[in-house]
Amino acid sequence: MNPVKRQSTLTSPAVCAGIELHGGNHTRMVMKPAPIGTGIIFVRTDISDRDNQIEVLPENVSGVKNCTTLQNAAGVKVSTIEHFLAALSAAGIDNLIVEIDGQELPALDGSSEPFLKLIEQVGITSQPAPRRYVKVLETVEISKGDSLARIEPADQLILDVTIDFEDEAIGHQRLEISPDVRSFRDRLASARTFARKHEVAALYAAGLSKGGSLDNAVVVDGNKILNPEGLRFNDEFVRHKALDLLGDLYLGGPIIGRVTTVKGGHGINHDLLTALFANPNAWKFVSIESESRETMCDSVSA
Ligand SMILES: [Zn+2]
Repeated sequence: MNPVKRQSTLTSPAVCAGIELHGGNHTRMVMKPAPIGTGIIFVRTDISDRDNQIEVLPENVSGVKNCTTLQNAAGVKVSTIEHFLAALSAAGIDNLIVEIDGQELPALDGSSEPFLKLIEQVGITSQPAPRRYVKVLETVEISKGDSLARIEPADQLILDVTIDFEDEAIGHQRLEISPDVRSFRDRLASARTFARKHEVAALYAAGLSKGGSLDNAVVVDGNKILNPEGLRFNDEFVRHKALDLLGDLYLGGPIIGRVTTVKGGHGINHDLLTALFANPNAWKFVSIESESRETMCDSVSA
């Protein structure tokens, strides 16, 4: 795929609503087109006594357990953003205001597909300004226990994701994908979040997953899938992990590089992005001036 050259936003506003996976409340979000250079900004419309805007930036990540949470300087949070960000990444949306009337995005069916469908329904508008990519120049690698995450130079974004679970229904799965909008729609978007039965009990005990059900997650018990409809793909689990990775990486904006994770998750995804940005020799901002020529773009403001 050729990287998209111009910034994009939605053509008109889009609304979606549903139950939060963890909090269990009903939330409604309105995505609104935004001007060049805005980035992705969440606005908590249920909060008016403090700064209620939260920018999608790696430094605003405040939690990575079970889902990715962002927080601004006033302590205002938005969470479970990764499936939405994956859809924005695949669709190439750079600029968007997302109003939301609660802390957590709606879980919908536990995948990115409803978000992507909504984006494609309202349409994507190309804007007259170059898109700013993070181009990886040097390999950065993180390991944590038996988990590994690595990012290295490549001509496009490539994800290489491996998972390894004891549960027979999951087991060892690997997927490699260059996620443009078409491959994302066909291979990743509909892969649902998953949990193992014993973890679900622990999540409930911790006051989480209040909105979780077989309607928005795959639940595994050893060699069994508890959802009556079964899986959407034989390897739905690794597809969902790739979807999560794409969403987590989009906190740093569009990236040109190859990302490998083994037994990864939101924590190590975030650590990888932090380590990349902490090393100024490991990356630079670029814009795509033509199909074949990539130009350093110092003039694009940070
Ligand atoms: Zn997920």
